[in-house]
Formats: sequence, C-alpha cells, structure tokens
Amino acid sequence: MKGSADVQGNSTTQEGRRPLSALRAPTPRERGERQDIAIIGGGIIGICAAAFLAEAGCSVTVFDRTGICEETSSGNAAAFAFSDVLPLAHKGMIRQLPKWLADPLGPLSIPPAYLPKLLPWLIRFWRAGAPEKYEASFAAQAGMMKLAEAEWMHLLDRSGTRPMLREDGSLEFYESEAEFQASLPGWAARKRFGIGFRHVEGDEMAALQPGLAPRFVKATFVPGWKTVADPKLLGKAVWAYAEAKGARFEKARVERVEAGADGATIVLADGTTRQARQLVIAAGAWSHLLARQLGDRIPLETERGYNTTLPKGAFDVRRQLIFSGHGFVITPLDTGLRVGGAVELGGIERPPNYARSKALLRKAQSFLPGLDPAGGREWMGFRPSLPDSLPVIGRAPGHQSVVYAFGHGHLGLTQSAATGRLIRELVLGQTSSVDLSPFSPQRF
Ligand SMILES: Cc1cc2nc3c(=O)[nH]c(=O)nc-3n(C[C@H](O)[C@H](O)[C@H](O)COP(=O)(O)OP(=O)(O)OC[C@H]3O[C@@H](n4cnc5c(N)ncnc54)[C@H](O)[C@@H]3O)c2cc1C
Repeated sequence: MKGSADVQGNSTTQEGRRPLSALRAPTPRERGERQDIAIIGGGIIGICAAAFLAEAGCSVTVFDRTGICEETSSGNAAAFAFSDVLPLAHKGMIRQLPKWLADPLGPLSIPPAYLPKLLPWLIRFWRAGAPEKYEASFAAQAGMMKLAEAEWMHLLDRSGTRPMLREDGSLEFYESEAEFQASLPGWAARKRFGIGFRHVEGDEMAALQPGLAPRFVKATFVPGWKTVADPKLLGKAVWAYAEAKGARFEKARVERVEAGADGATIVLADGTTRQARQLVIAAGAWSHLLARQLGDRIPLETERGYNTTLPKGAFDVRRQLIFSGHGFVITPLDTGLRVGGAVELGGIERPPNYARSKALLRKAQSFLPGLDPAGGREWMGFRPSLPDSLPVIGRAPGHQSVVYAFGHGHLGLTQSAATGRLIRELVLGQTSSVDLSPFSPQRF
C-alpha cells in the first residue's frame, strides 16, 4: 500500500535553509511508510494506548483535532476510582431519578428537546439494571478495576509520574440515617471484592475533614481511594513518555475512516489520507460517529459533566469529598480546588449550561462554610457512556484492522492504563489480561 499523502515535508531551518530531514532521521511518515498503528483521539485513553504500543516497539501516530488531553480528559475530577465498581443502573439510582429530574439544576438533567433522541439509550440503561445484567456488569467492572489499579501503578513508575499520585483516600457523606442505611448494600457489594472502607461520624469525621456544615451525620472513608495532582498535567506527562518511546502526534480532524483487508485509511479534514496496518478508535464521546462509518451502531451517549476549578487556598480540603446524594465531588488538585460532577444527558451538540456549575458551587459553599468561591474557572466535559456502564474494548465486527477503545463513562481516567494494556494485547495478538466478552462491541 502507498504511503500517506503528505510525506514530502518541505520544512527548512531559518539559518541554513537545509531540509529538517537532513538534520534528523526521517520519521516513518516522511519516508512514506505506512504506520503500524493510527490512533484517533488524544484523550487519556488514546495516549495510554499509544504509550503501551510505543513501548512494544510499534510505530504509532495519534490524531486529534485539539491536542493532547485537551477535552474531557483535561478537566475531570482526578480520581483513580478503583473501588467504584457498581454499575450506574442500579436500583437505588433508578429510584432517585424522579427526585433528581424534578430539579433542573440537580444531579441529573435531561433537556426536554433531547428526550426523544435519548429514549432508546434510556431504555437500555433501565434494562441494564435487571439483576442478572447488573451482576454481570459488576463482576466485569471489578475484574477491570483490579487490572486498572495494577496497570496505573506500573505506568506511573515507568513514565516517572508517580509523584503526581495522591493517596489520601476519599470521604463520602450522608445527610440522614436513612441515606446512610440506603448506601449499605453498595458497601457490602464492594466488600465482596476486597475494597476497604470504614464508616465514620462525629470527631473522627471532623478530623478527616475539618470545617464541614453540621448537616452531615455520617461518612464513609475509603483509605485506598487515590487521586492525581491534575488530570491534564498527568495526561501530558504520560504523553511525553509515549513520545520519548517514539509515538508521534498529528493535529487534525478525522473526517472519514475506511477499513480494508490489510489495513485502514483515515481521511483528514484537509482531504489528505493516512494509512495504517491497524486503527484504534479512541475518540471519546465522538467515537460512535466513526464506528458508524464502518457499519457499527453503538449506543454511545454522553453524560455531560460540569465543574468549577477555584484557585488554590479556596478551602483546606484534605482529600476527595463525595456528595453522592447531590451528584458531585470536591477534589484538591495541585492546580486548585475542583468542585463539580452532575450529569446532563444532552448530547454532543448543545452549548454548555454553566448555570449547572454555579449551582454546584453554591452547594459546595453551603457544605463547607467559608469556602471562597472567587476566581473560579468553569468547564464542561463529555463523559462517553454506554448504558451498562462498561466501555467498548474489542475489534470492530468484520474489520480485523480496527480496534475500538471508548465509552469509559465516569471512569476513563481510572481505566485508561488498563485499556492501554488491553489494546496492546489486541493489536499484537497477545492473550488478553481479562475476558473481553463483557466489553465486546457486539454486545448491544
Ligand atoms: C465532570 C467529570 C468528572 C469526571 N471525573 C472522573 C474521575 O474522577 N475519574 C475518572 O476516571 N474519570 C472521570 N471522568 C470521566 C473521564 O474524564 C472520561 O471517561 C475520559 O476523559 C474519557 O477519555 P477519552 O480519551 O475516551 O475521551 P476524550 O478525553 O474526550 O478524548 C477524545 C479525543 O478524541 C478527539 N476526537 C474526537 N473526534 C475526533 C475526530 N473526528 N478527529 C480527531 N480527533 C477527534 C477529541 O478531540 C478528544 O481529544 C469525569 C468526566 C467528567 C465530565
């Protein structure tokens, strides 16, 4: 197969007007060679896949329209949520829906005009809460999380990013005894998978987070919960490692993907094409648009999330604070204090409604009296979500040269290193570290 359309680079240096290619070894693209692997998406999933593949000696190019970790992976809540194994469609959550939906700025909202488009996904989500499906997703998620933790710890070491890890646990709050009691089955389920926690109240709760409003009666402390210093900075640091291992980046929007018997072709917005032996689609909430071009209809939706990052010093938050009843968290980062979460099932086109970020910040002020709300930066991101809370990781049906890696929902940062490993195993034909059937693109 011929090389890509832009292989003849004409760049010259300022001084000598010598071609850049005379100063360093030409890249495979400049040599007109086909890449081993093209990855669409420079979010945390795409760059972890790039890191694992580059480590294995593959020639890898990541294509992204904005940059490395500039979209959803840049502004998330920074949690390595390895103990977050419960699928979202559990009965407790479904019971909460009417109450949550009644408040347009509450933990969950659906713009009425989007409801008809969303309905098929909502029905699948509802069905995923059926006991046997729920149990299957739970078991798959628990297995994935074991791998997720092990792979991130190794990748932090290999990439020299371990100093960005914070191991101060999390604290999840309840405003009534009834809310606490309702949480107990979920904790019992986590215990089955060896997840450590302790319920706290009174002085112990106050010591774990001083300055709380008196409305909270109990909390659960999860000592093993980990966060990172800043998800965008971590992503960029992992990318620097991948680049040092030989991965390349090209800033471009991919308009079209095609797959043949011996490789894949991507068509960029400027009309040029690139070819690769294998193509990884890791384009977050936009992945289904590319999968559809290959004939696959995957029910990917987006759970839009909102937050505000306050300057450092806005409040002395000791660890990640989780307010499940209100659908948001507060995370201390090296770069500030991030307040946010919530879910808006509003699709990928609609403009952000930052009234939601403001509503969460107001709640945070009432939960932590004294929190300084000044100088915050508002943000919205698109969680790429499948109805059963599991990602799609597997070969495109009927296209041996294409691998899918998307749909990690609330857990993309957490599961990105594991996904990178699983993608490497798929691409290189190695035995998979976990059973991939629960993650199959054909499960819908
Ligand atoms: C408020 C909020 C809080 C969250 N908190 C956490 C948390 O604490 N822990 C956790 O594990 N997860 C969390 N998440 C989820 C996590 O952020 C996502 O699951 C993860 O970032 C998804 O990564 P990704 O690489 O799949 O997608 P993205 O980061 O969206 O990357 C996809 C990339 O593909 C590119 N792209 C798409 N289409 C094209 C195209 N046609 N051509 C070129 N480029 C294209 C985009 O530019 C983008 O950069 C949170 C999400 C939100 C919104």
